[in-house]
Amino acid sequence: MLSYRHAFHAGNHADVLKHLILIQIAEYMGEKPAPFWIIDTHAGAGRYALESAHASKLGEYRDGVGRLWEAKGLPPAAQNYLDFVKMLNPDGQLRHYPGSPWLASQLLRESDRLRLYELHSTDLKLLQECFKTAGRQVTVNATDGFVGLKAILPPPPRRALVLIDPSYETKSDYTNVVKGLQEALKRFATGTYALWYPMLSKLESRQLPAKLKGLGATNWLHATLEVCAPSKDGFGMNGSGMFIINPPWTLEKKLHETLPQLAKLLAQGDGAKYTLESQSA
Ligand code: SAM
Repeated sequence: MLSYRHAFHAGNHADVLKHLILIQIAEYMGEKPAPFWIIDTHAGAGRYALESAHASKLGEYRDGVGRLWEAKGLPPAAQNYLDFVKMLNPDGQLRHYPGSPWLASQLLRESDRLRLYELHSTDLKLLQECFKTAGRQVTVNATDGFVGLKAILPPPPRRALVLIDPSYETKSDYTNVVKGLQEALKRFATGTYALWYPMLSKLESRQLPAKLKGLGATNWLHATLEVCAPSKDGFGMNGSGMFIINPPWTLEKKLHETLPQLAKLLAQGDGAKYTLESQSA
């Protein structure tokens, strides 16, 4: 039984990092005329009302997108991300937050496609509602995203961005993301894969980056953003990471321009920092 609801966390520091990178990659892919697909294996509800009981309970967005909302002089990639959030809030009040499916849908051209997977029955209904008028361009699947990914690769246009963003509710997510990427790379080695993971004290989380680097992909970029030092009691998420296989060549420079300011802006205590490392063939 899945209990994780992304609505509690929508717009937090981890979403800022993940969604800023998602936009950068999809915009880059849209610069070439050939069609591409975005495959979102763990889609969530699509978009979120920040004044809902769920989102306002923890209010995590206030220390995430909320900090950027009023900020001046943001680096271009952060301003670009914020402009998408503003599209959902045309009256200038931060009331709605876009999930990855909504953002992805804004970045598609007519020939591009969006394939979404979500298992939680409540979020699935919200996701279906979000895309009920989208037509064939967007499909919402009530299928396990790891199973769906295996079945869909390689995608017909041979160009795709795959976002893998599980809730890591269970230990199996840590093994599933590694296995899922291994399988995916066998079927579609040239795809761009963006995997999000939480930085937690538990062993599975700490070991994940080394396992991702060991997958054998020749081109990757690994960005982390920590908003404070890990807590002494070992509880809570103090940061998150994005591991991108076959990233756009422009992304590393953009993140170098963006992450220093983002780490300062989103800091919640001592130890706020970012890291950026890469490998290319
Ligand atoms: N990608 C979303 C975004 O950025 O807006 C957030 C996704 S949330 C972190 C993870 C979602 O995956 C939850 O809604 C959860 O119900 C769903 N989920 C968990 N296991 C899944 C699976 N095996 N296949 C598809 N969805 C799953």
